[in-house]
Amino acid sequence: MLSLLDTATGKVAPLDPRDQGRISVYLCGPTVSGSPHLGHGRVTVIWDTLRRYLTWSGFDVRFVSNVTDIEDKIIARATEEGSSTSEVAARYEALWWETMAALNVARPDAEPHATAYVDEMVKLVADLVSTGHAYRGGDGVYFSTESVPGYGLLARQDVGTLRVGARVEAEREAGKRSPLDFALWKLAAPGEPAWPSPWGPGRPGWHTECVVMSLDLLGEGFDLHLGGLDLAFPHHENERAQAVAAGKVFARRWAHNGMVVDERGEKMSKSVGNITSLPDLVQRYDGRALRALVLQAHYRSPMNVTVEVLEQAQGAVDRLDTFARETRDLGPAAPDPGMLARFRARMDADFDTPGALAVVFEAVRDARAEPARAPALAAAVRECCEKAFGLRLRGEQEEAGLEVMALVARRDAARAARDWAAADSIRAQLQDMGFVVEDGPHGTVVRRER
Ligand SMILES: [Zn+2]
Repeated sequence: MLSLLDTATGKVAPLDPRDQGRISVYLCGPTVSGSPHLGHGRVTVIWDTLRRYLTWSGFDVRFVSNVTDIEDKIIARATEEGSSTSEVAARYEALWWETMAALNVARPDAEPHATAYVDEMVKLVADLVSTGHAYRGGDGVYFSTESVPGYGLLARQDVGTLRVGARVEAEREAGKRSPLDFALWKLAAPGEPAWPSPWGPGRPGWHTECVVMSLDLLGEGFDLHLGGLDLAFPHHENERAQAVAAGKVFARRWAHNGMVVDERGEKMSKSVGNITSLPDLVQRYDGRALRALVLQAHYRSPMNVTVEVLEQAQGAVDRLDTFARETRDLGPAAPDPGMLARFRARMDADFDTPGALAVVFEAVRDARAEPARAPALAAAVRECCEKAFGLRLRGEQEEAGLEVMALVARRDAARAARDWAAADSIRAQLQDMGFVVEDGPHGTVVRRER
């Protein structure tokens, strides 16, 4: 069974599913107020890999990840553009899913939107007010962190230290009793989008949506709550505090991934060299290069992204493609059981993806050194890369080669004859087969969709 570090206890322990054979997972999703950044690339790819690995291991995984479609930053962007919050949210949500597809990150089983859960959130806030865990402050309703014993668990720091850190932030929010208290409901300023509530028209606080949605869609005591380390405190701790105050059993386990950092080790989310955002990166690089880069770092370590390391990761992907092509004619074979066992042993040991990737490259070397073992090792490499890592190797493209090349030739002929309808219909056919079709200087260029 897969072991992971539990942020709440600080210990590595095997997952112990609530329901046998099933694993319920919640990952905090995007606030759709702008382009996704490199940090989003890491958090989505690493936890998508966990999901794929658990599924491959035979678990029925239910993976829920929310979309925050109402929030201060969305309101600010809509005001700046003179558009509406729903327009801004829809545009950046579309960009989010498009970028995720380029990284081969699978869509969640459920994608709850904050605006669809406002009634449930109002109910929770009203419940917390009635039990004395929340109070009406200057511009909204606040949660009283002092009312929950053990507040600060996920920060793994004592509350006194946390309080000092929170003070500066708190000065901006008058009406809070303690600097650690946080907004559950924000009263709307004139012109802001608002929903009715017993405290006046307003919008829910971000910390409230995840607790309501995760419990609604996964039930009490769900298995695993995931996110970037920057969310452990205060966001996840604030989710947990509300669940505790409401008398609910919340996530049984917490796991957090490390941050993306620059050469100096400082948290970086925006630009690397001339790459300014995640959509920009997937335009310029093979999405699989970023996947490989994420796998090369242990999920809890800081991860450095530079043009050099991206190119090295691309080199690793290219070596795997070469191996897939070299071995594509070996015929079907059962995956080498020893290699699969070594791969699983690394993955199960606190999700050691760099160790598991090393097992894959060892198998590539072994297959070349011992041709008799090559078919089984090649089958194992492919299985691990595609099923567990979500890295589709390009050996398969050549298998479809003749048919594809014939379609490409027909499309070029149609274009030369200015038969645009035929050219478009062949393009659609190639796209249906999973290819991206582009017009190059020498005719049609196809590549497998990533
Ligand atoms: Zn969340």
